[in-house]
Amino acid sequence: MDSTVPERLLASLRDVPDFPKPGIVFKDITPLLGDGATFALAINTFAERYRDRAIDRVVVVESRGFLFGTPLAYALGCGVALVRKPGKLPADTHQESYDLEYGTDTLEIHTDALGAGDRVVILDDVIATGGTLAATVKLVERLEAEVVEIAALAELTFLNGRDRLTPHSVHTLIQL
Ligand code: AMP
Repeated sequence: MDSTVPERLLASLRDVPDFPKPGIVFKDITPLLGDGATFALAINTFAERYRDRAIDRVVVVESRGFLFGTPLAYALGCGVALVRKPGKLPADTHQESYDLEYGTDTLEIHTDALGAGDRVVILDDVIATGGTLAATVKLVERLEAEVVEIAALAELTFLNGRDRLTPHSVHTLIQL
């Protein structure tokens, strides 16, 4: 990866203090998505990394993971597998619940979204605590697919989210 990429991507993120609640600095990706050159830079940087890794599917996490994972899959010429909030996927699903600061959340995947041995990259926009991606890994592993790597545009390193994703390889374009 060209060493100027993280800086160029970072310049297109907007910090929104106290969203969605006091004390959280939200990393808003909409300026990046709104600029064609920067959006292409993000997707092309991911595509360069995974092009020769024989990826069968990109697993995309609702909802902002869809925005990066789907164009990546298109660039790689592979399909996507959707991980969604409960009640959105129409056919048979597996579910995985995970803890939030207050309460729990659940994610689902279609039971036929991946085949045993499929090589997948999991993609989301931001890794915060890593809970969302840890639950996604469990769903992928229930289908006996192989996690080649977990990737995200940005990572909030002070939350140590990647520790929850051990032993999988984690790749992020921006570390905050
Ligand atoms: P996590 O704590 O890693 O499970 O984060 C859950 C999801 O919330 C991630 O997929 C992000 O899309 C989003 N998220 C959490 N914290 C932030 C933040 N500070 N800025 C932007 N998105 C966030």
